[in-house]
Amino acid sequence: MRHLPLILGLLTCACQPTPFDVVIVGGNVLDGSGSPAQRLDVGIRGDRIAQMGTGLDTVGAGRVIDATGLMVAPGFVDLHTHLDPLHRLPDAESHVRQGVTTALGGPDGGGPWPLGEYLDETARLGVGLNVAMLTGHNTIRRTVMGLDNRDPTAEELERMQEMVAQAMDEGAFGLSTGLKYLPGTFSDVDEVVALSRTAARRGGIYTSHLREEGLGLLEGVSEAMEIGARAGIPVVLTHHKVVGQPSWGASSRTLAMVDSARAAGTDVMIDQYPYTASYTGIGILVPGWALAGGTDSLLTRMQHPALADSILGGIAFNIVNDRGGNDLHRVQFALVEWDRSLEGRTLGDWANRLGMPLTAKTGATLVVEAIRRGGASCVFHAMQEEDVRAIMLHPFTAIASDGRLVQPGEGHPHPRWYGTFPRVLGHYVRDEAVLKLPEAVRKMTSLPARRMGLVDRGELRVGWFADLTLFDPARVRDKATFTEPHQYPDGIPLVLVNGTLTVDRGEFRPVRAGVVLRKSP
Ligand SMILES: [Zn+2]
Repeated sequence: MRHLPLILGLLTCACQPTPFDVVIVGGNVLDGSGSPAQRLDVGIRGDRIAQMGTGLDTVGAGRVIDATGLMVAPGFVDLHTHLDPLHRLPDAESHVRQGVTTALGGPDGGGPWPLGEYLDETARLGVGLNVAMLTGHNTIRRTVMGLDNRDPTAEELERMQEMVAQAMDEGAFGLSTGLKYLPGTFSDVDEVVALSRTAARRGGIYTSHLREEGLGLLEGVSEAMEIGARAGIPVVLTHHKVVGQPSWGASSRTLAMVDSARAAGTDVMIDQYPYTASYTGIGILVPGWALAGGTDSLLTRMQHPALADSILGGIAFNIVNDRGGNDLHRVQFALVEWDRSLEGRTLGDWANRLGMPLTAKTGATLVVEAIRRGGASCVFHAMQEEDVRAIMLHPFTAIASDGRLVQPGEGHPHPRWYGTFPRVLGHYVRDEAVLKLPEAVRKMTSLPARRMGLVDRGELRVGWFADLTLFDPARVRDKATFTEPHQYPDGIPLVLVNGTLTVDRGEFRPVRAGVVLRKSP
């Protein structure tokens, strides 16, 4: 008798299929491939898509979701995420509410070391979305060489290669550089090629925050392509943009360069966030040479009149021609720990408050003063809408946030931290008709997933992981603005991570259904 329940169970299995854990009925499925939407139901068992079709059986299902009027898409895959706060904000709500179910961290040459321990700790904590990491050139170079402005010795280069190899063996998806930042800015192309070869041999990709995004943009793009060609590694020109008025329009050149590199066999693609302003430390306005050795060295150099003249002249040049946008009101303070009242205000507002004239020279003085007081993160309004649209339209441009995990009330972030994906779907697809919806979703799903080498995410297919984002095409929109950034988007009522409802009818659920992804060699 004690075997009866088991026997009954077997009989049940033989007579009818196991019910779905979740069935999504009546929605318009965009599978992520770029194909048009189809009216299909999606049946999920456990963490996988079990069946797709019409009239799926809902009997006995754990949950039936009526998706009438909604688009059913793969969860979005973000190729550029600043995951630094992940252990403090493991639910990653600001990302998941945008529909992101997989995030690639460690961009711009940053990221944790050692990676294996970090990934183990992340897995122990549990996370709200799937997490993958790049290993960072700046992290590695700083560990081996400090902030020295010189080439590595043969031993140092070998040590850096070993570190890249170790990170790859521990699960990194590739190498990132931030050649505009310290200490990557002191490296030459041969160094990055050598490290990229190590990553390439283990199946990694290379993502580049270019050495320059303004006047030196074209040289920066060709350097990334040279690295791709010589190291034989797939390349991402990350957060691709054209900064500074003299360079506006240059996207026609950079996109042509991408096309010709691809035609010549280098596997180059792009990611982009959909805004005309960037966000980074105020030190980006300072010439790289002046920052060698770090902030203290910069301040020491400022004590020598001739050097101070060159430094201030260099900053003023960048205010006019590069990220300063040729207007002190285009540099907006975001995070200022030494004076919260400046957050949201501009360099021009600060000059006004101090009774200083609104000149580039004033701006340069204030930039150094801000660094002296401890630095600041700023929003730089120095891009042109036409370049943003041209880059977005390129078939090899993915949408990626460059956002940092955040929660309401923390500092004054760039709105892309909350709004990147819904902004493309609402503003650029529905309101401005720049992109068609299936193409926009492809840029958020299969295109970035393939670049990462994921073989079971990024499209809706039977047997693949059940990462899904359901959105209302008539309502989806970003709400975060440059003045009021802490706002979750509208029109994304349901997000499933590995089959688990993480956003349910607009309510966020801290269920931590994500997994840590490790690149298998
Ligand atoms: Zn960057």
